[in-house]
Amino acid sequence: MSFASDVKNEIISFERAECCQSAMNYGLLLFARSFSKDSISLLTENESVANAFADASFSLCNKKTPLQISDAGKYKVNIEDGVQIAEILNNLGYDVKSFKRRINFANIPDSCCFSAFAAGAFLACGTVTDPDKEYHLEFSLSTKGLCDDLVKIFDEFEIQPKTTLRGGAYVVYIKNSNDIEELLTRMGAMETAMQLMGAKMFKDIRNTVNRKVNFESANLERAVAAATKQQDAIIKLTEKSGIDSLPEQLREIARLRLADIQLSSAEIAKMLPEPISVSGVNHRFRKIIKMAEESEK
Ligand SMILES: [Zn+2]
Repeated sequence: MSFASDVKNEIISFERAECCQSAMNYGLLLFARSFSKDSISLLTENESVANAFADASFSLCNKKTPLQISDAGKYKVNIEDGVQIAEILNNLGYDVKSFKRRINFANIPDSCCFSAFAAGAFLACGTVTDPDKEYHLEFSLSTKGLCDDLVKIFDEFEIQPKTTLRGGAYVVYIKNSNDIEELLTRMGAMETAMQLMGAKMFKDIRNTVNRKVNFESANLERAVAAATKQQDAIIKLTEKSGIDSLPEQLREIARLRLADIQLSSAEIAKMLPEPISVSGVNHRFRKIIKMAEESEK
């Protein structure tokens, strides 16, 4: 089962008031593969969606349409009987003669029903990506009119989706995680909405941790580069006549640095027989480096 399929199952199993259930059925029929005088049909990979579609049409024409399985293993519900179609269209307030595939807002009577209607549309032509991978929810529509109407529905939710034309389909999509969360909750997919919130929190935490780790590793790199430079200088100065040739003040820190490149200036400062400040250690290392540079001239 795909992630989107799980979301659809969750939407279907959500319990709704009767007015909302009818609005969802309407959305499911109107946004299906075809909704016209000639055929009302749905093609889906999700068996529960196919059953919901068959139930929706049954509630409007009292005739059960059987599920078919396509060659590609998808579920198909195809209503082609003229009488049955006319009954469905009539019950949804469409005039068969002047039929236009647009939303009849009379079928969405209350504000509660808008969310259920969007849920029906989502079941018919929507998909959502696993929020662990990407924030993306979309509806793929066959006409510009439906696309405009759906955007109007989102206006009710104060969600501003984007639209685009892809492969001959009008796509209404949302990438804003808060808007996706809002819509999923409205459609009855609370569990998925919670999962999205969790994914978002996890991402925020991970980003913070990454920033810290990057910061610390940059610091570490700088420290290693400095210590390497100090070691090189000490080796250069003591190659010929040994460490005892260094002025007394510098001998001990040179010895400690040679022994361990990972020691920080602060650690070295504490390890000296007569502890000095960190800046004192750094000052002595600068002196060593300067001496090494001068010895080359
Ligand atoms: Zn309602």
